Amino acid sequence: MQTSALRILSIITLVAAPLFAHGDHDQKPVAGPNGGRLITAVEPHAEFLVTPERKVRVTFVGDDGKPVATVGRSVKVTTGQRSAPTTLTFVESDGALLSEQTLPEGNNHPTVVVIRASADAKPVVERFNLNLADCGGCDRPEYACTCGH
Ligand SMILES: [Zn+2]
Repeated sequence: MQTSALRILSIITLVAAPLFAHGDHDQKPVAGPNGGRLITAVEPHAEFLVTPERKVRVTFVGDDGKPVATVGRSVKVTTGQRSAPTTLTFVESDGALLSEQTLPEGNNHPTVVVIRASADAKPVVERFNLNLADCGGCDRPEYACTCGH
């Protein structure tokens, strides 16, 4: 009895895991220089990285892969459960923009990143699920995975 229940459970896990694993990969993220997710819809590109303190660090990156100044640029992130989203605001820190707040508890929250490359630029909006789990196929977290696993 117990054995068959376990077997069913493991079958469910095997079937369900790839569905979840592939949910983030409709658009394959590009590698950022610090191991984050590179948002290429904006010029210069912006790397979205979650720090060990669960803050978000956004580094603007030139075509040569080197960081560029944050002057005049702004980022706003909305994440968390849809019923109670958290807004992250950013301040300049060490040549990048660092969120003043930490990410809400939990994982795989729908996330909206709004970036203005300059004060009068049209905002660029990027949406993805922020999956912080480690990818099985590369060394990156799922939100920054580039292996398409
Ligand atoms: Zn991967």
